[in-house]
Amino acid sequence: MAIFDHMPMGEEGLTEIYAWIDDYVKRNSTIAEKIVLGRSEDDKWDVPAVIITNRSVAEDKKQNAIVTLARHGQERGARVVGPEILEYLASDDAGETRKKQTIVVVPVVNPEGVVLDKFHSSLHGITDHEKKIFGVLCSRFVPDMMIDYHSLGKIDATKYDRGDMEVIIPANTTRWGMDEQIYNHVSGKMVKVCAVAGWPYEIHSLEDLNYYYFGDAKTGRRAHKYMQEKVFLLHIQNFSEHYDFPEKPPQYTNYTNGPAYLKWHTMIFGVETNHWSISPAEGLGESGLLPCQALLDMGNSRFPWEHYSGYPTNLVDGDFRISIRATGKTPGERRVNREKIWKERVNFDILKRVMLDNPEETLVDVGYLGNDVPLDFELSLRMRQNTIKTVTVDGRPVDFDTVKDNCSTYVFIPLSLTKAGLSHITVTHEPFRRKD
Ligand SMILES: [Zn+2]
Repeated sequence: MAIFDHMPMGEEGLTEIYAWIDDYVKRNSTIAEKIVLGRSEDDKWDVPAVIITNRSVAEDKKQNAIVTLARHGQERGARVVGPEILEYLASDDAGETRKKQTIVVVPVVNPEGVVLDKFHSSLHGITDHEKKIFGVLCSRFVPDMMIDYHSLGKIDATKYDRGDMEVIIPANTTRWGMDEQIYNHVSGKMVKVCAVAGWPYEIHSLEDLNYYYFGDAKTGRRAHKYMQEKVFLLHIQNFSEHYDFPEKPPQYTNYTNGPAYLKWHTMIFGVETNHWSISPAEGLGESGLLPCQALLDMGNSRFPWEHYSGYPTNLVDGDFRISIRATGKTPGERRVNREKIWKERVNFDILKRVMLDNPEETLVDVGYLGNDVPLDFELSLRMRQNTIKTVTVDGRPVDFDTVKDNCSTYVFIPLSLTKAGLSHITVTHEPFRRKD
């Protein structure tokens, strides 16, 4: 049954949502805590966040997942999705998620907009209000995953398809480290979970959205020009925009999580629910919960190409065959390392592997041009060979780790650079033999 079977409207509606949040935290005090991130722009309302986690596991041993909703005031659907997600997070089904993740839900990012039932926000960059709110939030919880909820109404969808769709938006703003493929993989799984429950979601990339924005609303004529240039959006992104962290001077789009991707290589998604075609009583909240639930579940498991379980954010440069990966014993250590090497991704100028005449030897060169040393990371190679025997880095044997998918072996080699330059890695292995 829906948590909200009606649409909360105006001051009364916001008060109702806030009262529900307080009651929720009271009912679930062992796993839930409310914090206040700041005040609405008109200074009339708090902006609360609810932290849900298993407190017996140290924060450093968990990933951080952030769920934000109702950034755009008139996008009503997001109002009922937050409570639905919170209720799920308190259920037995979410036990593993609470153990492995700290989840922060901000049910109403823009209280003033919700009361006014107006957009009251920005499509170009994030607002000053959001910079403050997200600065407070992310200075406490550097996110490994962020999902930002919006909602489409009667006339708020694309220029060609109005009133009736729900969308998952892979919101990565670059294609570094196979992110296009990884985001497609993850969003495909989200769509599947929704479809099984009877909710037909579409996947639209940021570039797809851009294409819709420039069409002709009246005639439905499509803007073909914007299908031709894949990198258009990257050109218009303002890379100097950043969140305002309270203790630092101000540094930092439709979706509020772009800056988190750029700074921490956070896995980021936007979701558009639909409050025109689905009423709260008909399951609007559930349809919004499902993509989030699917994503949170994925954050508990290990992706086949990843060394560690969790959101697939560690591959920061290269591809599946040869790549630079974040390292660390715990999710907390990997968060810190990921921020550092993600920032240095442009400074890896050589990633080269060859197999010459000897079928038992693979030679790798890694070149680094930067000066952020010492720099620790993992080099990952996807190998056809089943058995890996030894790895040397510049002639010295090193410990390495392997994981297997259904047809290959991933080798993870710790590298620790003390200066810029070239590292030579030799991997010895049994020759490739096809399985019978
Ligand atoms: Zn929106």
